Amino acid sequence: MADPKRTKVVVALPLERSLLDQLAEYDVTVVPAGRPEDGTLETALTEAAGLLVNSHVSVDRGVIGSAPRLRVISTMSVGVDHIDLDAARERGITVTITPVLSDAVADLAMALMIMLSRRIPEGMRAVASGRWTGVPLGGDLSGKELLLVGFGRIGQAVAQRALAAGMRVRYVDTRSGLPGCAGVDRIDGLSEGLRDADFVSLHVDLNAGTRDLMSREQFRAMKPSAFFVNTSRGGVVDQEALTWALTEGEIAGAGLDVLENEPPDPDEPLLRMTNVIVVPHIGSATTETRGAMARCAVDNLLMCLRSTGDPYVVS
Ligand code: NAD
Repeated sequence: MADPKRTKVVVALPLERSLLDQLAEYDVTVVPAGRPEDGTLETALTEAAGLLVNSHVSVDRGVIGSAPRLRVISTMSVGVDHIDLDAARERGITVTITPVLSDAVADLAMALMIMLSRRIPEGMRAVASGRWTGVPLGGDLSGKELLLVGFGRIGQAVAQRALAAGMRVRYVDTRSGLPGCAGVDRIDGLSEGLRDADFVSLHVDLNAGTRDLMSREQFRAMKPSAFFVNTSRGGVVDQEALTWALTEGEIAGAGLDVLENEPPDPDEPLLRMTNVIVVPHIGSATTETRGAMARCAVDNLLMCLRSTGDPYVVS
């Protein structure tokens, strides 16, 4: 029988035993992964001081309202678009993130650029259908221009890799005071950057200002030979506009780790386009990175509940 005096914590993501054990001093309720629609999460939160989630769990105003004692929401992600930050702020609830995944996401963004430019999916399809020759030539990364939209942690990690590959790198970002990076130029206008880029890679957070940031106008500004990569959030792109741009030849191809709806409708046209690579939101999906994220999320939660240490708090 749980001790009613112990501080309550709700874990709403799959967590390995050794990490659950670290929470042993608390009265832990594990709710099924995902966002249970049956009120299980809200019921579990009635007395809870801490909540551990990932980006699949929507922590909206209603959920926060069901948790009058909540002090900390620790998410195993860096994106916080699944959490109503205003509602959390109004209640003085601390929100923490796990910024230990930049290398993994940057690797995936580079992989998508290389796969697109070297026509790797076409090569794989040719071999699978018994052909060994006849795949059209691809293009080099070296000497090409990359526009990074968003130059935070992940954007900067992509820049390092792109420079090593011999690319010219430019970025747009709304934040001032970002660290300088040798060989990387900041530009002010998104349209100017889009016009000149051979590759455009998105690394902004999803918020009211970035929703549908890439619409028809932006895709129209890109070169017909340019490739578009999105490892940020599906909502940053007007997906209908992207489909139009790919169909009309406004851009050459796209590599997508994220979509507007995940999982997508099986009839989603992007899934069937030969110049599009879609992978299932695997930006951080390595054993090492997911392990580090889980440890970081638990550490953040413990530090906040104990009022010690230096958790990764969303400002
Ligand atoms: P970050 O906060 O370090 O960087 C985001 C940058 O975007 C900031 O510098 C910000 O100023 C900039 N920005 C915001 N609005 C902008 C705009 N309108 N124009 C230009 N720049 C703008 O975050 P991060 O750690 O680099 O992560 C970026 C995003 O990547 C996350 O918010 C998340 O949504 C996504 N992500 C995806 C995966 C995945 O699995 N695919 C994994 C981790 C993160």
